[in-house]
Amino acid sequence: MTSQKRPPQRETILESLRDYLEQLVEEGLEGAPYKTATTSFADTRSPLRASEDSAAKPSSLGPADVEAPKPRSIQEQAATKATAAEPGELFSPYPGLEAVTTLTELREFIGDCRRCKLWRSRTNLVFGVGNPSARVMFVGEGPGAEEDEQGEPFVGRAGQLLTDIIERGMGLKRSEVYIANVIKCRPPENRTPEPDEVAACLPFLMRQVEIVRPEVIVALGSVAAQALLKVKTPISRLRGQWYEVRGIPTMPTFHPAYLLRNPADKRHVWSDIQKVMEKLGLPIPKRGRIR
Ligand code: SF4
Repeated sequence: MTSQKRPPQRETILESLRDYLEQLVEEGLEGAPYKTATTSFADTRSPLRASEDSAAKPSSLGPADVEAPKPRSIQEQAATKATAAEPGELFSPYPGLEAVTTLTELREFIGDCRRCKLWRSRTNLVFGVGNPSARVMFVGEGPGAEEDEQGEPFVGRAGQLLTDIIERGMGLKRSEVYIANVIKCRPPENRTPEPDEVAACLPFLMRQVEIVRPEVIVALGSVAAQALLKVKTPISRLRGQWYEVRGIPTMPTFHPAYLLRNPADKRHVWSDIQKVMEKLGLPIPKRGRIR
């Protein structure tokens, strides 16, 4: 029996279109229209044409008739974006990915990946590690030298600090949580991953999120937080507040590697982790802290 692909729902297409327009607004394109999630897209003209039209025709509406758009919080922006399918996800960049239902199948699907240029600089592809049914999932940026060498995320000094956060801070075993990165291959000289590399690898992380389906995600550092939440806000402004990714409560906080250079900020991470523990119903020690 041949399976027929159903055309994407109109609402899903509009959702993706809204994401794209909001991204244009964030990137500073003047004339890109702002619409809230509940507004219907009755006016389907091109945003630039619509803007030209309004400039050409004197408006009959007085100032009192025009409701100025309310500025939205970062959470509202992220909530709209992180729960919606990306255009690339809607028209699956990797056919068959959505049919993968286990982490083992996903690793097989990724295979000897060459979908972005980072395959050239890797020793090992670093997929992810931990409990496939974890209650909490930690997401970092990408593998460093030791992770690349061993094929496991967070095994260097930053990894030791993450283990301390999990075991000493949260009272869990490292093997009880799931740990993954936005990108699976080490960038040369440990540079920050480029947007095309994040875009190429992010569908794999999102599938990991969907398969593990944790109760809470902790996004470690700006690359992970910005990729998951689809915003460009610095981590210093994102951290400490709840967002949602695919309906899963998500807490951004500083990356352990940053904490190694800025130990004074450990208190902020401990504060964020306590919120995660509270959400998971874990007991919070009265005098606990991250060392
Ligand atoms: S970083 Fe991701 S997309 Fe790029 S080659 Fe590695 S696994 Fe493939």
